[in-house]
Amino acid sequence: MKDYLIRGIDETGNIRIFVASTTNLVEEARIKHNTSATATAALGRSLTATAIMASMMKNKEDTISLKIQGDGPLGRIITTGNTYGEVKGYVDNPNYDTEAREDDGKLDVGKAVGRNGMLTVTMDQGLKDPYIGSSNLVTGEIAEDIASYYARSEQQPSAVSLGVLVDKDLSVKAAGGFIIQLLPGVVEEDIVLIEEALSKIKPISTYIDNGLTPEEIMGEVLKDFNMRVIGKEYIKFECDCSRERVIKAISSLANEEIQEIIDEDGGAEIVCHFCNEKHKLSKEDLEKIIVDKF
Ligand SMILES: [Zn+2]
Repeated sequence: MKDYLIRGIDETGNIRIFVASTTNLVEEARIKHNTSATATAALGRSLTATAIMASMMKNKEDTISLKIQGDGPLGRIITTGNTYGEVKGYVDNPNYDTEAREDDGKLDVGKAVGRNGMLTVTMDQGLKDPYIGSSNLVTGEIAEDIASYYARSEQQPSAVSLGVLVDKDLSVKAAGGFIIQLLPGVVEEDIVLIEEALSKIKPISTYIDNGLTPEEIMGEVLKDFNMRVIGKEYIKFECDCSRERVIKAISSLANEEIQEIIDEDGGAEIVCHFCNEKHKLSKEDLEKIIVDKF
């Protein structure tokens, strides 16, 4: 099944939910970055949240980036998404792994990310300056950190659930997430109902692993409400790097610098952080760049 996300709204229009299945895109990220189980979970949760947050943006060309900078051994997690359902991302130390937590057997993402640090959200909406919001990390588990970001930076009460189930062979067995947002007209009774429901539900990766679709997960989580699906879109891991972009980036260097690369290395190999793709330029390619600049 292809990954996709849905948005749903209740009949009063005050409770909205975004639910995403992301098993394939997280597996794609794992293969590209050869991540450890814990790194897969951390990067996968971030990519899932980014896909959902990107789908909330208004204009076609808007993009959103998340930077999770904790004090744990994974280093930074950087993810970017657009309104076409494309996300990409990487983690500084994809090889770091740690034991599962003793109490619940889950991968210890909080320890790997670190509980002290910042979540920074950058939204490029085609304006002169991008919107930048940030908040302190709460647990390093990512879902709580994003909920806290919404509460503190955007004054938007939200419940966030993100999950990645890693198989014994390290492949991604199931991944997904949801964000519930309460709009200003929501009544107290409904908030209580939602809190009760959230305290009883299973981890989202369990629902996905059991074969539930995003629509069915919405029905399960918000079964007390009359929910309606108002949008659906496919999502995937996709990087927009290309040979042309690399050439453009190198063209912006001074000719002396390009000549230096030619003299010292013969050619250039540029590795894309986001997808690990290697872009190779030969000596002739680099010489052509210098010539073309005239
Ligand atoms: Zn790339």
